[in-house]
Parts: sequence; C-alpha cells; structure tokens
Amino acid sequence: MVTSDGVDPFPAVESLRAALDDAGIVLEVLALPALDGLTDDQTRGATCVWHGGDRLTAETAIPLGEHMSPLSGVTSLLRWFPRACRTCVADRAHRGLLVHAPMCDLCADEAGQCPIGRGLYRLVREYRR
Ligand SMILES: [Zn+2]
Ligand SMILES: [Zn+2]
Repeated sequence: MVTSDGVDPFPAVESLRAALDDAGIVLEVLALPALDGLTDDQTRGATCVWHGGDRLTAETAIPLGEHMSPLSGVTSLLRWFPRACRTCVADRAHRGLLVHAPMCDLCADEAGQCPIGRGLYRLVREYRR
C-alpha cells in the first residue's frame, strides 16, 4: 500500500523504530506485545496485533514488518509478520508524541527539527480516523 505522499507506510513505521533505537529510546507504546498472550489471528496478522478485533483487510492493515520473537514451549524464535489497524498506530504514535516531546530539546526548539517527533507526528496524521 502506498500513501498519498508516495511513501510506503511499512518503512515509515520501521524507520521510526530504527530512529528510536538509535536514540536509545524505548518507546513502549510502539513495542509489540509478547507472542504468548496473543490469539492465532493476531499472530498471523489476520487481526490487529494490539487490540485484536475485526479481521483486517488489505486496505485497513498496516504491516509492521518481519519479527523474530520467543514463544514459550518453543526453543527457537518464531518468525512472524504482525499487522496493526490504523487506529492503534495513530493512537500509539500520539501517545508516543506526548511522552517524547516534553523530554526532547529538539522538539521544544522548533517543530519538525526532531526526526522522532516528526516521525511520530506523521504516523498520527496519516492514520488517525
Ligand atoms: Zn488495533
Ligand atoms: Zn524530539
């Protein structure tokens, strides 16, 4: 899926996660839940990884990329491709912005200066209802 500004949203989420990692910021709000608590549908990307709910469609799903996660009772990591709904991504990015912006000098200086603030804001703008 390509959004109106021609950018695939999957790299948008992934590059934001990479920027957060680089900055040493653990943004819990965008972290994936543990596999153990998830339903089969959530694990295989049929429903939202965060809230479950209705089955996602190609239009509503936001792929979150490939991940390797532990599952209890399984010795090797499980490869999975979680997907999320637009509402959860927008809500979580918004909460992330509220957590991040007050602690960030770049964000306080001038809006749009900070790649993390900008990335989160972009997710909110693209995916909120
Ligand atoms: Zn959701
Ligand atoms: Zn910032």
